[in-house]
Amino acid sequence: MNLVFFGPPGAGKGTQAKTLTAEFSIPQISTGDILRAAVAKGTELGKQAGPLMAAGKLVPDELVIGIVEERLKEPDCHKGFLLDGFPRTIPQALALDAVLAKLGKKIEHVVSLEVPDTVIQERMKGRGRADDSPETVQKRLDVFREQTSPLKAHYENLGLLRTINGVGALDEIYAGIRKSIGR
Ligand code: AMP
Repeated sequence: MNLVFFGPPGAGKGTQAKTLTAEFSIPQISTGDILRAAVAKGTELGKQAGPLMAAGKLVPDELVIGIVEERLKEPDCHKGFLLDGFPRTIPQALALDAVLAKLGKKIEHVVSLEVPDTVIQERMKGRGRADDSPETVQKRLDVFREQTSPLKAHYENLGLLRTINGVGALDEIYAGIRKSIGR
C-alpha cells in the first residue's frame, strides 16, 4: 500500500496518518517530522531548514527530495509507506515518480483531506508549535494554495486523487479514508 496524504497544514494529515500506518503496519514518512528532528539536533540540514520553517516557507526541493529518496530505500518501506507532507511542489512530485520508478514502485492513492481555511485558522490557534504564530499559519496556507494545490490536478490526471472531507469526527474521517483506498 503506497500512499500520499495531501492537504493544507492543519488538515489533520498527521493524526489520520498515524492511525492508518499503525493499523496497516507501514511507515509514516513525514518530511515535517524529519526536518523538525534535524532542527532539534542542530544538523547541517536543520540549520538550513530551521529559518525557512519558522517563516512558514518551503524548504528547497532538492533537500526534501534527497531525504525522501533515502528513506524510501529502507527495507521497512517494502510492504508500503505513507508519505505525509510530501510532495508539496510539482518538481517534488515529478522527482517522486522518478525515484519510485527506479525502485519498481508506484503511488496507489493520493488522499486529499479537504478543510476550509477558516476551520484551519481556528484549529491552529490551539496547536502552539513554534511555527504556528498567526502570521506563519497564514503564510503556510498561502504557500499551500500557491505551490501545493497545483499537485491536485497532477494526481487527478493520473487518476490517483481521493478527495475526503476533513471536517467532522475523527473516526468518520478515518472511515472515509479507508473507503477511498478500498480497505
Ligand atoms: P509539516 O509538518 O508537514 O507541516 O511541515 C512543516 C514545515 O516543514 C513546512 O512548513 C516546511 O517549511 C517544511 N516542509 C515539510 N515538508 C516539506 C516539503 N515536502 N517541501 C518543502 N518543505 C517542507
